[in-house]
Amino acid sequence: MTLVRFAPSPTGLLHVGNARTAVVNWLFARKQGGRFFLRIDDTDTERSRPEYEEAIIADLDWLGLRHDLFARQAERAAAHEKAAEKLKASGRLYPAYETADELDRRRKRQIALHKPPVYDRAALALSADDRARLEAEGRRPHWRFKLSQTKVKWRDLIRGAVEIDTAHLSDPVLIREDGRFLYTLPSVADDIDFAVTHIIRGEDHVTNTAAQIEIFEALGTTVPAFAHFPLLIGAGGEALSKRLGSLSLREIREGGIEPLALASYLAKTGTSDPVALRPSLDVLAQEFDFARIGRAPAHFDPAELAGLNARLLHGLDYEAVAARLDALGIDGGAAFWEAVKPNLARFSDVADLWTLVAGPVVPVIENAAEAARAASLLPPEPWDESTWGAWTKSVGAATGAKGRALFHPLRLALTGREHGPELKKLLPLIGRARASARLRGETA
Ligand code: GLU
Repeated sequence: MTLVRFAPSPTGLLHVGNARTAVVNWLFARKQGGRFFLRIDDTDTERSRPEYEEAIIADLDWLGLRHDLFARQAERAAAHEKAAEKLKASGRLYPAYETADELDRRRKRQIALHKPPVYDRAALALSADDRARLEAEGRRPHWRFKLSQTKVKWRDLIRGAVEIDTAHLSDPVLIREDGRFLYTLPSVADDIDFAVTHIIRGEDHVTNTAAQIEIFEALGTTVPAFAHFPLLIGAGGEALSKRLGSLSLREIREGGIEPLALASYLAKTGTSDPVALRPSLDVLAQEFDFARIGRAPAHFDPAELAGLNARLLHGLDYEAVAARLDALGIDGGAAFWEAVKPNLARFSDVADLWTLVAGPVVPVIENAAEAARAASLLPPEPWDESTWGAWTKSVGAATGAKGRALFHPLRLALTGREHGPELKKLLPLIGRARASARLRGETA
């Protein structure tokens, strides 16, 4: 059965780039009838924080991406140790004693000699005596994975045939000298233990994949399928990483973006489909196809996202928002929602528009006598959407004003604003008492 994993590190809030990884994994799993595994990559104990883990879970929940499996890497140390022991036993994980300074000097020398700055494997030549001597000096080893120095090939579900010659890579450090694991091995060990079938992530991991495929093989398991998608870039082509702070899901959500607008955007950007609002995550899943993901970077444009969000709000039925309106203390019912929804850029704008109905509105009166005359022409209730037309017709007949000269002063008096929702829909909600008061210049 298809099992994908989303593996964020709880060292910060999720940003749009992470969210796209989550969306793509989730949609693929859904389409396959598979499962979505949320793995918290908290091996970096210095930077990982429980509050970030909570935030990640809350943000995924908000997006609608529920997980079927959950694990924390910090709780799986025994499994990681076991994998490390296996690699040590087969000679693929070896101790090295160079300090960071020594490695740095060696790298600089290689660069000066126009050689690739690849670790020279000096540690492999150490005898047992050498190691004992170094440890007696107080050095602790870090542990490197011995790459095969051959061509690692895989058929990437997005990039097609990929080939990476691991002879050009440094043997990756899997365990630090303080005994803590870096990301590479725990990731593979967990992918194996949970039987992950597809690893779907950004193309910044392509080189890791070559080393990780070798680790899967060294541990004697089948290698999962891989898909690496191009990273998100800003609308103007700039790297997003510089501004990721302002692109956290938290901020996007607090900025009033609806989860489905964001999910639609992230599912479609960088694909051959238009960036368009889709009705549900299930529809997005049905439409998901690796073949539609291009090789060029995907754009993330907050203005385009805001446009999708507005379109989503404009299409929502009252039933879909009744509870949210209730929670804001807005009791204008379906009539209010239908009146204001075309004016919304984000849902929270309803609170401000509700004041046009419930008040207080400070009217703007351009001509007090004419406004009072218009007030006197207000028909008796009950009012409906035809009231505005009938009333303004009679006001026009009485004053001789037409067009903007007729309507604009009435809008200013009734709402205190230059622009706003359609008055034929708003007027019955405002009601006769408040309309009359506002036309007479009273705050109501
Ligand atoms: N924790 C890693 C990251 O956030 C996971 C990468 C992966 O998907 O393997 O980059």
